[in-house]
Amino acid sequence: MINQQALSALQALTAGNATVTLSNDKRHFTFKFKRAKAKPLAPYSDHRGRFFGSHGLSFGAPLPPPIFVSVKSGHSMDYAGIVASDRFGNTTIKRTAKSRVDINDVQFRALNWMIDQLQRGGEAALSKHGFRLQWSNCCVKCGRKLTQPSSIDSRIGPECAKHFSF
Ligand SMILES: [Zn+2]
Repeated sequence: MINQQALSALQALTAGNATVTLSNDKRHFTFKFKRAKAKPLAPYSDHRGRFFGSHGLSFGAPLPPPIFVSVKSGHSMDYAGIVASDRFGNTTIKRTAKSRVDINDVQFRALNWMIDQLQRGGEAALSKHGFRLQWSNCCVKCGRKLTQPSSIDSRIGPECAKHFSF
């Protein structure tokens, strides 16, 4: 049996398909991190695979596909931005032209706060502030992704739970 080491929270968030719920006893936020599909070199490269960046021809590899981040707002997921590095090399969420959240939105601020804390001290840093991070799972009855803290804990959504007596 392979003994795999657990990924750090940031590694797991940027692995390609992560949904997490951040909560304290008053409120919760759900964030989805999704890596864009890798594109073949075209149309930015020539037949020798040379990459054309926005500043002309360069010989480096094309950038890895971006990781899009969405925040849950009511029943919808709103696109917030992409995972990026700031000038100090810290991971941050950068808004883009298509972002549907304002920089002052509480979801967006919570998202960047979470990323900042995870870099400082992993999930333990969040719990110092009374928050916890839950990794989404799916309802064991219908398979829907669970995002409410209590549903993630009970592994079943509220509708499906009605059919069970505990
Ligand atoms: Zn269900």
